[in-house]
Amino acid sequence: MLNQLQQLKPKGRDTMKIKAIHVYQHDLPIIGGPYVMSSGPLHALDTTLVRVEAENGVVGWGETCPLGPTYAPAHAEGARAALSVLAPGLIGADLTRPRQVHQTMNALLSGHAYAKAALDIALFDALGRLLDRSVADLLGGQVQASVPSYVALNVAPAGETARLATEAVKAGYRRLQLKVGGRDVVEDIDAAKAVFAAVGSEATLVVDANRGLSREGALQLSRGLADVPLVIEQPCDGLENCLTLRPMLHHPLYIDESADDLVQIARLVGNRLVDGFGMKVTRLGGLQPMMAFRDLCEAGGVPHTCDDSWGGNIITAACIQLAATVKPSNLAGVWSAQAYLDHHYDPVSGPEARKGRFNVSTEPGLGLSIDPEQFGNPVFSVC
Ligand SMILES: [Mg+2]
Repeated sequence: MLNQLQQLKPKGRDTMKIKAIHVYQHDLPIIGGPYVMSSGPLHALDTTLVRVEAENGVVGWGETCPLGPTYAPAHAEGARAALSVLAPGLIGADLTRPRQVHQTMNALLSGHAYAKAALDIALFDALGRLLDRSVADLLGGQVQASVPSYVALNVAPAGETARLATEAVKAGYRRLQLKVGGRDVVEDIDAAKAVFAAVGSEATLVVDANRGLSREGALQLSRGLADVPLVIEQPCDGLENCLTLRPMLHHPLYIDESADDLVQIARLVGNRLVDGFGMKVTRLGGLQPMMAFRDLCEAGGVPHTCDDSWGGNIITAACIQLAATVKPSNLAGVWSAQAYLDHHYDPVSGPEARKGRFNVSTEPGLGLSIDPEQFGNPVFSVC
């Protein structure tokens, strides 16, 4: 075993070049759907998978799955188009140096962080396998053996939301996110009150409008729920619309969709302009920039989630590995779409929440074993 590892590991300043990159498309129907946010219902998602092969045969997997074309400035076909620009320029790049790979990606294509993230995650998976270390180890080392997860509750009638909230708390979840917006604010207020009446202080409540409220509507929501302890997440479209509301809100303010740039996030944390973040790994460009985000938030004492908008085992595993390295008091939880999916990419080790938490794999890389045959032929390959 040791000899095998010594053969795999790069020695001294040896490099390990990327030999090939394969990009796959895969459909993810939403079971128990539709998934309903303020922007409307979603019935299925289109995910993009990246398989990176090193010159010694080590493989790493990455994933990016925009939540439809309107959740963020990202869409599935856009991910694959951006990857077709990036991938040829990464053949021969040294996967033992993820920062250099990011600099190369940024030189090849401006923006498109969500596409770069799929390559970033695949590189960390491959590097972990190469060095026989978990991705969490590469990100600084895990500080928890398991990480808390949370549940998102669709925009739905108050009674139904309260019933699902009760089930989630019974299942072990201690953070519930109620989707709001896209209907009369009074209905959102009733739903949040019904949930609080059902689960009380047994869980932290978050109301997430996904940019779907007007400023007036957000104020009405917060005033109507002034006696209910909860967090308001991304009430309105646009960062300044949210920030200028904060002094008038009765609740802590988390920013999600509008936090998409490390410099802007440094301003928000440094000036204590927000109370927390709902953060998506692919929004910032992958695990490498998420380390900077994590450390900045810890320094400022600003809590955050480690999520992504959608995706299967690969993105979930990446979120868990990252979350395992976050100071526990600063980790607001890990959300995964896996509960809405009808299959695992890895039927044996695919992550699943149990009693409201995800166990953290200590196996090399992301800890997954993935058969590429399940995704059919790649959309394209470069080598
Ligand atoms: Mg959110």
